[in-house]
Amino acid sequence: MSRKFFVGGNWKANPTTVKETNELIELLNKAKITANVETVICTPFIYLSLVKSKLRSDFAVGAENVFNKDKGAYTGEITPPMIKDLGVTWTIIGHSERRDILKEDDTFLASKATEALKAGLKIIYCCGEHLEERKAKKEKDFVSAQIDKLIPAISADKWDSVVIAYEPIWAIGTGVVASTADAQEMGKTIRELIAAKVNPGVAAKLRILYGGSVKSDNCKDLAAQPDVDGFLVGGASLTPSFIDIVNSPP
Ligand code: PGA
Repeated sequence: MSRKFFVGGNWKANPTTVKETNELIELLNKAKITANVETVICTPFIYLSLVKSKLRSDFAVGAENVFNKDKGAYTGEITPPMIKDLGVTWTIIGHSERRDILKEDDTFLASKATEALKAGLKIIYCCGEHLEERKAKKEKDFVSAQIDKLIPAISADKWDSVVIAYEPIWAIGTGVVASTADAQEMGKTIRELIAAKVNPGVAAKLRILYGGSVKSDNCKDLAAQPDVDGFLVGGASLTPSFIDIVNSPP
């Protein structure tokens, strides 16, 4: 089963001015893409309209987060229909920074997934263990429990709109990348779980990304793994080397 390679850029709260955002857009607009790849640039809410209006059309645009309701008395929140209305097609859900810093739990995140899909958005759903679970050799149990909570939130006809990003927390922004074997092993574990609990057809089509210190010098080896169908890229998505990562699939 061939799955189209997927690279997400996650800018986080890094561009903090319109000027910086425009510089990133310029960098991407002049990039030469040689690979057969789906690229999604996820930006802070406040820059979504700007990026959507200026970024070349072969790069999709995504939000980095979304709320779990469609509208109403939720001061300060950004809901899926608002994002969809901008022509933005994707959103990240469950990034570890939201899980750990904002204390968003699996139940809340699963409800965000349901609501985002209902509004017609596609989702990059993040999972991944802390160093503590990895050291205790409990990483598969930890990640499987995160995915188990997601599964009931996704109706059978919506799996085509889901990408899962495995991001071991100890590898995010640390410069410590997971080994190719670790990335492959967890990708395979997630796929087997989806095959068992959803169905084998969905599992075969599902794209499972790796994220955590992906750089131009490690992306090719990671991309060659059978259960690494792409990347979610933080730090390097703010640099010209992001283009090498986008062009990394074998
Ligand atoms: P990083 O971040 O590439 O800077 O490690 C990845 C992410 O948080 O999605």
